[in-house]
Amino acid sequence: MKAVFKYYKKYAHLIFASLLFLTLEAICELQLPSYMSGLVSEGIGKSDMSMVWSYGWRMLVITLVACVCSVFVGYFASKASARMSRDLRSDMFAKVMDFANEEYNKFSVSSLITRCTNDITQIQMLTYIFLRMIMFAPIMGIGGTIKAIQFSSGINALAFVIVGAIAVVVVLIVIALTIVQPKYMKMQKQIDKVNQIAGDELNGMLVIRAFNTQKHEEERFDNANKDLTKTALFTTRLMAILMPVMTIVMNGVMIAVIWIFAAKVEDINQISNMMAFMQYALHIIMSFMMISMIFIVLPRAIVSINRVGEVLSMPVSITNKEDKQTPSGVRFKGDIKFDNVSYSYGGGVPAVEGISFEAKSGEVTALIGSTGSGKSTIINLIPRLMDVSSGSVSIDGINVKDINLKDLRNNIGFVPQKNTLFSGTIESNIEYGKTQINQEEMQKASRIAQAEEFINSSEEGYKREIAQGGSNVSGGQKQRLAIARALSKNAPIYIFDDSFSALDFKTDAKLRMALNEEMADATVIIVAQRVGTIKNADRIIVLDEGKIVGMGKHEDLLKNCSTYLDIAKSQLSEEELGL
Ligand code: ADP
Ligand code: MG
Repeated sequence: MKAVFKYYKKYAHLIFASLLFLTLEAICELQLPSYMSGLVSEGIGKSDMSMVWSYGWRMLVITLVACVCSVFVGYFASKASARMSRDLRSDMFAKVMDFANEEYNKFSVSSLITRCTNDITQIQMLTYIFLRMIMFAPIMGIGGTIKAIQFSSGINALAFVIVGAIAVVVVLIVIALTIVQPKYMKMQKQIDKVNQIAGDELNGMLVIRAFNTQKHEEERFDNANKDLTKTALFTTRLMAILMPVMTIVMNGVMIAVIWIFAAKVEDINQISNMMAFMQYALHIIMSFMMISMIFIVLPRAIVSINRVGEVLSMPVSITNKEDKQTPSGVRFKGDIKFDNVSYSYGGGVPAVEGISFEAKSGEVTALIGSTGSGKSTIINLIPRLMDVSSGSVSIDGINVKDINLKDLRNNIGFVPQKNTLFSGTIESNIEYGKTQINQEEMQKASRIAQAEEFINSSEEGYKREIAQGGSNVSGGQKQRLAIARALSKNAPIYIFDDSFSALDFKTDAKLRMALNEEMADATVIIVAQRVGTIKNADRIIVLDEGKIVGMGKHEDLLKNCSTYLDIAKSQLSEEELGL
């Protein structure tokens, strides 16, 4: 909650202005009925136009002032609420960008999207309605009461009418709110769900078609959609019933007032009193209805405020430490050292345990092991996509936690296992990691990544469009572009997480050769499934169930690591193995 309220403080001047004009408007509105009553009591029965003029122009001026104020209120209120929601959105997005895996996993993507859009819109709406009405209620309520007493001609029964009407209004609102509040909570979750299923299905369109599960998926979406509709209908219907009931109450008040006055009317003064009283009575009830309007939006907005606050106040686990040991813009030599490292996802059983090894600059270090053996986990610890649970990872002898995050990541060319291209062009994707890159560097990166051939095969070349997620290039082409993107950073460290798997054997071999020649000084870490890919590595690390079970060169491992031998046997022929 607090996380959201600070945004109100920032626009205090706009809020103040809107409240000020609202107060003025309310005061003006409060004056009108008494003038009308004056006109009736003094004017009726006399054929004197000057009376009409003298009251008329005052009423006209007051109405005009009220109108102008109302415009200003609308202006300031919408400005304050729109700006606030803009800030909330951009801050929330920035915050999510800082999330590490751990925080990210606590919210689903769809929920983050709903929170960033729908929830913030709810808050914006509440702010607007609040600013538009909040001052009206007390001024109309209290001012109206004072005025009503003035015009009541000393009839006590009138007080009962008003108090009774207010009691009915308040009871109705309270009942409605208690029923509706939990539903709103449910509703935001159901919006999450609809977004989630829609996202799932749109992303998985190919699989859905291939498996002919359109019907099933449609039903799944339909169910979520129906649930949401049901809740939305229920809450809107309930709130819709409130309105006519309120009108009945108001009309009831009018009838009661006329009835009570009717018994006592003796002269024209009483009639003018009655007219004014009726107006003020309605003002009083209106003020309660406005409060109820606020209370209709409030519960939903509170749910939203909490949901947005949850994201904004989430502590980020991977942060920059204040005292850095390296100057900014540092370029490392690239000696990486793992010292007895363990990592467990969400504090459960360790995914990797007791990992110690070194990856030196100018060398190729390879990680191999069955799926789920912890390869990606290990290399994600180097650019601090996650932080070690125990042990340490260091570069050139400096713990990665003591390096400025930006510098750390600038020093690493990373190709994640699940890589993504962004919509744009081939060029914009390759130069992604670096803002200033010349044509030569770009061509070099593409050449090493073996992407040049297919880039040049189309007429647009580097200007060729890339669709969202890189869906208009093949898996292997996508992988090569992702590799070129990492290489164009010209970093001292390169990490390839299973980046060669979608390449054919020939391209794989050519790419590795080019890497060896052109990036001779770099520290290269390769995660691979194929023994052929890493056979020539300076150091091969064999993983099994999160532990290192062998380390050394290909020939040595064949002799003394049974896990490695098993993997090799399953992929290579006897001659290739040289056994
Ligand atoms: P590899 O890359 O060797 O295939 P990973 O490092 O991805 O293996 O995974 C190692 C282990 O950690 C696996 O048992 C996997 O189920 C688990 N794991 C991976 N990512 C997560 C995650 N985000 N949350 C929980 N467990 C995970
Ligand atoms: Mg992996």
